[in-house]
Amino acid sequence: MAASPTDPAQAYADVVARIARATQGAGRARDAVTLVAVSKMQPWEAVAPVLAAGQCVFGENRVQEAQSRWAGRRAEVTLHLIGPLQTNKAADAVAFFDVIETLDREKLARVLAEEIQKQSRSPRLYVQVNTGEEPQKAGVLPQDADVFIAACRKAYGLMPEGLMCIPPVGEPAGPHFALLAKLAARNGLVKLSMGMSEDFETAIAFGATSIRVGSAVFGARTQA
Ligand SMILES: *Cc1c(COP(=O)(O)O)cnc(C)c1O
Repeated sequence: MAASPTDPAQAYADVVARIARATQGAGRARDAVTLVAVSKMQPWEAVAPVLAAGQCVFGENRVQEAQSRWAGRRAEVTLHLIGPLQTNKAADAVAFFDVIETLDREKLARVLAEEIQKQSRSPRLYVQVNTGEEPQKAGVLPQDADVFIAACRKAYGLMPEGLMCIPPVGEPAGPHFALLAKLAARNGLVKLSMGMSEDFETAIAFGATSIRVGSAVFGARTQA
């Protein structure tokens, strides 16, 4: 069901109930799946009721937008960066986020490693995988994932804890989720960030440990 933009608290409660049903249906514990509420491009009137309802994990696409939305409430929330990260924003991202889900190239690995050293701050890291091999999409290609993860560990001393993917629009997501789970398992990674408003129940069935849900909670975004 589409969320009504006027009642995010109700939409949030519906999504929470659907997560409970999906985890139960998959024979998984309710707390095996973290809801990352994607607040990007949402007006504060949509975000405030969800925060008030007890949600404390949020996802943002852009470093600056996240800073302006959350700087005043930083201590109350856990923040995930889920959008592409430019190396010139890496210092700000390390300083501000708890989790960076979009590690996808060696140059970024190097700069993140330097910033983590410099700032003595270690956001949790996910490697983004371009499971659909879409030219316009960020993420390492599936066939490059093993080598990239090994390089993160050995060359840069980074310890990614999981993988993230965004399946192609208009394709069944299940095979992409299965591929991500397989890549994670064979690299000893236990976290899977997969599933959005349209497909989070499928993702939970395929082992998602966190789902990134925006419009189903907050309503349609004002911009694309
Ligand atoms: C915007 C976004 C989401 C949330 O998408 P919805 O379809 O609104 O749930 C999830 N993940 C990423 C990477 C996004 O950019």
